[in-house]
Amino acid sequence: MTAQELWQAVLGELELAVSKANFTTWLKNTFILNWEKNKIEVAVPSTFYKDYILKRYHERIKKAIQNITDYQVKEINYIVTSGKNITPIKPAFKVRALEEKETKKAVKTAPSLNPRYTFARFVVGKKNELAHAAALAVSKKPGSTYNPLFIYGGVGLGKTHLMQAIGHQIFAEDPTKKILYAPCETFTNEYVKSVSLGQAHKFHEKYRSVDVLLIDDIQFLVGKEGTQEAFFHTFNHLQQHNKQIVITSDRPPKALPAIEARLTSRFEGGMIADIGLPDLETRMAILKARCAEQNFNLNDKIINFLATNVQNNIRELEGALNSLIASAQLSSRPLTPEEAKTILRGILVTPKKKGLTAKQIINHVADYFSVKEEDLIGLCRKKELVVPRQIVMYLMREEMRASYPNIGVELGNRDHTTVMHACNKIIKCLEEDEKLRQDITLIKERIFNVG
Ligand code: ADP
Ligand code: MG
Repeated sequence: MTAQELWQAVLGELELAVSKANFTTWLKNTFILNWEKNKIEVAVPSTFYKDYILKRYHERIKKAIQNITDYQVKEINYIVTSGKNITPIKPAFKVRALEEKETKKAVKTAPSLNPRYTFARFVVGKKNELAHAAALAVSKKPGSTYNPLFIYGGVGLGKTHLMQAIGHQIFAEDPTKKILYAPCETFTNEYVKSVSLGQAHKFHEKYRSVDVLLIDDIQFLVGKEGTQEAFFHTFNHLQQHNKQIVITSDRPPKALPAIEARLTSRFEGGMIADIGLPDLETRMAILKARCAEQNFNLNDKIINFLATNVQNNIRELEGALNSLIASAQLSSRPLTPEEAKTILRGILVTPKKKGLTAKQIINHVADYFSVKEEDLIGLCRKKELVVPRQIVMYLMREEMRASYPNIGVELGNRDHTTVMHACNKIIKCLEEDEKLRQDITLIKERIFNVG
């Protein structure tokens, strides 16, 4: 079944299930863009449609897909493709290309790994070359070169990709190797569950029997003592048996304040490599690679515009590119740079969060730096409080549009000139201080994702 056929069938089911008016208004103008096993991308005409469909029809769509295919569809993404009148042109060529690729690479890959996260698809640039070299070295001689390999860096910069590339490579060279990829949260949940069922031994068996353990986003181990303990023992066991461990984190081991010292010192005993923000060249190279992969021609001006405007997150960069590709497929000719800019402008303005409160910001910043909320608001001028406090003020100003005097009131009745000074200081430092940029990006991620 092609993606087109699948979507036709889904619409067929929905047509029977909802009123004609609703069907015509909300569903008729949707198209499928991409179907990869349990992931589907559907084009919708505007964010308004997207929100509405998510709220009203998402579950039905999901069910319909499950009825029609054997796939447990985990992810349906609704992608806004320009608000103007959409002419339904079949994007079938892309779908077919993907299907062909799928069958061609029916070569076995290690389970639990995303087939897209390979070394071949990883673009090397100045800011990730060390991490890339370390990852390659580890995949050539797992368990002996660097153990553990600890990769850290900001959100969307390729940590998971690089970590899984190691898994793919080791598996490609020796398919008998047991590779286990687990986001830290999975590790935690499985541990907690196994304990509550009185089956901790099963958990230990699972994690200790692997050749390569990839634990993603270890920062989420913060504050979970029992799981830290379990991880510590797993870690020692694997290391003693020369099994490779790879860990990623959003910051270096030393900056993981609430993780036990005996663990962080273990991390420091291996190789630590960071991934920084990609430079313009790398961002352009990634865009070009993605276009080539999908046989999609994008004007250099547009590539340049896109790479210039999305700097901090490769996932966002890819997301923006995918929107352009989707839009281009819906109109029968290549996008002009002006059209591309219009589309991108709609995507690139980060929405200000509605109803964001001072308390939420204070809470996330305190949590991020592992300091107490009352200390942030208080008068103490210790170094480890000063910058977080300034970040709180800056975020209240930027994200809530709060006035200087109001910010002062929220932060222990400080004078508005103090607040002004703090905000300006952060703005100035952001220009050169990459670490600060990353800190703030990560805090914002949390504010916007968690609430
Ligand atoms: P992180 O784990 O650091 O948050 P990911 O590894 O999930 O980031 O990467 C986000 C997206 O960006 C993925 O789709 C990944 O394939 C892509 N990506 C990141 N770095 C690179 C790179 N150097 N070359 C190609 N794609 C990359
Ligand atoms: Mg990741």
